[in-house]
Amino acid sequence: MSIKSIGVIGAGLMGNGIAHTALLAGFDVVLVDAVQAALPKAVATMTKNMERQVHKQTITAETMQEALHRLHTTTEYGKFIDCDIIIEAAPERQELKQKIYNALIPNLRPDTIIASNTSSISITRLAAMTDRPGKFIGMHFFNPVPMMKLVEIIRGIATDDETYKTVFALSKQLGKTVATAEDSPGFIVNRILCPMLNEAIFALFEGVGTVESIDAGMKLGANHPMGPLELCDFVGLDTLLSVMHVLHQNLGEDKYRPCPLLVKYVDAGWLGRKSGKGFYDYSTTPPKPTK
Ligand code: NAD
Repeated sequence: MSIKSIGVIGAGLMGNGIAHTALLAGFDVVLVDAVQAALPKAVATMTKNMERQVHKQTITAETMQEALHRLHTTTEYGKFIDCDIIIEAAPERQELKQKIYNALIPNLRPDTIIASNTSSISITRLAAMTDRPGKFIGMHFFNPVPMMKLVEIIRGIATDDETYKTVFALSKQLGKTVATAEDSPGFIVNRILCPMLNEAIFALFEGVGTVESIDAGMKLGANHPMGPLELCDFVGLDTLLSVMHVLHQNLGEDKYRPCPLLVKYVDAGWLGRKSGKGFYDYSTTPPKPTK
């Protein structure tokens, strides 16, 4: 099946980036959000980000205008009727995703694929909530979507070969490299990355190093572009904690136990960059370690 029109559910951080990427790859995009005010905000963000690309001469002003012309924003799932695939990027709550699929399905053609951008919910379980487990798949993008080259594709137990092949080809058309992952908690990237970040927090908790020495150690000693504690702040400490809970509960091993210091930071509302404070305080330039 060849994809021409893409529906995106959720005009937040990820939905916005997915729509942006799909528009610049030449697709028609229908972007739906439950909150009307989220739509003009998403268009403004996309416009600003594309203007930055024009400024850097990675796209032309004509490409930008033509791409934005193919974007349709609405609060109604009824506008999805011509879409070949729907990429769901709504908040990470299973009961909310279920509600969305229930409302969405009567508005889709029977051959429309549904892909979820979930970070941690089982694709098999989400697929079973729909009328089309064979045409349901995980498409896990990374933030910021227009910049990050990877998409993880996750097959549920019932995902059919045609759906997998179509989504694989689509990912390439979107300019992404595919890592195919089994439907297992955290898929590939979060399964490996989040325990490493949690371990960096344990190192801080146990006094093995300071915030600065842990970050410098991994940047200069392991050639990571960002220190692990800096990266925790970028990802969001609440998001990291919820991934660790998923790994711990589903894989049942102590090695996935969230560090008590991570729990404490989240309790304090120190969630990283988005709250202005995490392992670093972002009210100063450059940011200073909070401890
Ligand atoms: P977000 O909170 O930034 O955006 C979610 C959007 O969905 C909001 O605009 C909200 O108004 C909208 N929404 C809520 N209910 C809705 C409904 N019933 N119908 C339509 N829209 C609705 O969230 P996000 O960070 O973009 O995350 C979205 C999904 O992507 C989650 O499943 C998350 O796990 C996953 N994800 C996030 C990241 C990340 O770095 N943030 C990375 C990969 C995957």
